[in-house]
Amino acid sequence: MPIKCRKCHSADAEISLPYAGLSLCPECFLDYYVKRIKRTVEKYRMFREDEPVGVAISGGKDSAALLHGLRRAFPDQEFVGLYVNLGIPEYSDHCQEKAEKLADLVDVEFHVFDLKKEEGISLNDFRRTVFKKKICSVCGTIKRHTFEELAKRAGVKVLATGHNMDDILGFMFNNFFSGQWPQLIRLKPVLPPPTPGLTRKIKPLIRTPERESLLYCLYAEVPFREMDCPYSRGTKTKERLRMLETLSQDNPNFRHQALRIFLKLSKILERDIEQPSIVPCTNCGFPSLNGTCAYCKRIAYIKKVLSKDTEEK
Ligand code: SF4
Ligand code: ZN
Repeated sequence: MPIKCRKCHSADAEISLPYAGLSLCPECFLDYYVKRIKRTVEKYRMFREDEPVGVAISGGKDSAALLHGLRRAFPDQEFVGLYVNLGIPEYSDHCQEKAEKLADLVDVEFHVFDLKKEEGISLNDFRRTVFKKKICSVCGTIKRHTFEELAKRAGVKVLATGHNMDDILGFMFNNFFSGQWPQLIRLKPVLPPPTPGLTRKIKPLIRTPERESLLYCLYAEVPFREMDCPYSRGTKTKERLRMLETLSQDNPNFRHQALRIFLKLSKILERDIEQPSIVPCTNCGFPSLNGTCAYCKRIAYIKKVLSKDTEEK
């Protein structure tokens, strides 16, 4: 006989959450997911009632579940959906379509930064350059910058991202073992703006395990992408997930314990580690180490490569 949901005691349980000792029916699971977002936002004081919040949507399950869950958790709050179209053939347009559908569904304003239209280049252009093995890193640099630009246009000072618990733990392990201490500090649930005028970054899914965002999207029928980024092959994500899975097998609480320890550690590091000093980029005003930010460097580089190509033709 199927077991009954531990919350409502009437419907059949379909989702097991061993770390919480819970088996839930779909309705109670959706409620549990939304309440955890609400509690996380409140615990870390991520935003005030009167602050409009930008949500960085990628088309993937995490950011889709995030926007949908935030809307349910805070029905009176103003949210704005932000999407960056990187010009990855097929994939970027597919994700944009899903992101637009989602924004429509939850009835929020939607802003797009189209890299091709705005800068005349696409992420794909980096494929034939020295960055061909670092496309994801270039992608990250572009997204960090363009989401800030979108936030400015949308008039929001808070930017929510869909980083889940597994993402955070994966980054923490990588940065910890490679001794990148300043990077560890960036993984906090709330990151104040590095310079005035930029957004405060918040991670309302920091306590949400990856698989639960997928389940949320499936049960709540939230639109999200049905294809993988062509550059995701060979990234460390799957490796990290496998490692977390193995470590959690004998101890279902492993992820939660590790996150607690890392968050404590990042607080200690924040006190003791000097952050590199930053100066505004002379071109765009974004924070930089030496007067030109990483985004402006990449854009200038690729434009030079492309104009050389045209000259040679
Ligand atoms: Fe960007 Fe890499 Fe993710 Fe593709 S897999 S969207 S290139 S970070
Ligand atoms: Zn710049």
